[in-house]
Amino acid sequence: MRLQTLSIHTGVDKDSSFNSVITPIYASSTFEFEDIGKTKGYDYSRTANPTRTALQENLAALEGGAGAIAIATGMAAIATVLHLLKTGDHIICTNDCYGGTERLLRTYRELHGIQVTYVNMGKLDNVRKAIQPNTKALWIETPSNPLLNIIDIRALADIAHEIGALAIVDNTFLSPYNQRPFELGADIIVHSTTKYLNGHSDVVGGAAIAVKPEHAERLQWLCNALGQGASPFDCWLVLRGIKTLVPRMRLHEENANTVAKFLSQHPNVARVYYPGLPTHPNHDLARRQQYGFGGMVSFEVNGGVDEANHVLRSVKVFAVAESLGGIESLISHTVSMTHASMDPKLRAEAGINERILRLSVGLEDINDLLEDLDRALSFKTVVPTATVRSEA
Ligand SMILES: *Cc1c(COP(=O)(O)O)cnc(C)c1O
Repeated sequence: MRLQTLSIHTGVDKDSSFNSVITPIYASSTFEFEDIGKTKGYDYSRTANPTRTALQENLAALEGGAGAIAIATGMAAIATVLHLLKTGDHIICTNDCYGGTERLLRTYRELHGIQVTYVNMGKLDNVRKAIQPNTKALWIETPSNPLLNIIDIRALADIAHEIGALAIVDNTFLSPYNQRPFELGADIIVHSTTKYLNGHSDVVGGAAIAVKPEHAERLQWLCNALGQGASPFDCWLVLRGIKTLVPRMRLHEENANTVAKFLSQHPNVARVYYPGLPTHPNHDLARRQQYGFGGMVSFEVNGGVDEANHVLRSVKVFAVAESLGGIESLISHTVSMTHASMDPKLRAEAGINERILRLSVGLEDINDLLEDLDRALSFKTVVPTATVRSEA
């Protein structure tokens, strides 16, 4: 079956009592034993819950993995996957990863002695040079946030496998509709299901999917041991959201492409970052590696933080908010919002400046989105208003 059919037909048929077409929410913390050691497959909902299992089956099918965990948040997925490493292990991470990932890796270095080196993974030599005898994983995130740099998953997975390390991919920005990391050699995929997979901005959730059964089992074990599993209600919402993943992603991409073209011709826009534009430095790689360009667009306004703030204050359809991947359009200021927790030095090295605004292009009528941006960007001189000034 193809992705759209899988997204609708996996993780259903769970109710043998009434044959409900949609998987119910099994809001039970505990399940009755039939005899010593005999259950119907469930005993306690931290360990396993039928609604969560349904979502996990769906996630594994969408990415083509052996198994998945549906977990409380995207960060919980990342934290749990990092538990595959142990004290003294070394990880090489892309230098413009999600801010929360960098914060967590910094904490794990202090708490657990996990070593980390950040490199620009756009140059494979940087990765090779960073390899140590104890390198156990490559942390790959592509497209990056917020600059939408693309890195070569297949080449990085090959490097990882040459040294017996894991290739882990954060696939949040594209979803399995636009990118299939297991086809490119990845071992583990993480998602913030908060974003495109749920797609309706009403859940914070996460997932990790493994291609090898032994990794899937270990992740299940860790999810239970750490007590991180997603609630039945959240799992049900994500499962419901996934059923429309394919048509949503198509429209996200169509709208994003139009917005990117519009911005690249606007006199008050200094630069547009969208991998679908032929001018994007990684456009060819994106075409080769991805099944589409996704719904995220970043751009630099002419001027500085005050001009960026002017745009944020002026938009009416776009909501000024963190997060992405929902049906509604969002705009955010990277330096003061999503990347505020990131080490300012790393942030600056990654090229993230205070003029950058990031759009999660939603599913509204494209003309309303373009008019909104045009109005917000039609400024001549801007009165300074921004209170947040950053080191970057
Ligand atoms: C949002 C996000 C996360 C973290 O997910 P939460 O659900 O907020 O915990 C991780 N990686 C990427 C790329 C994200 O966008």
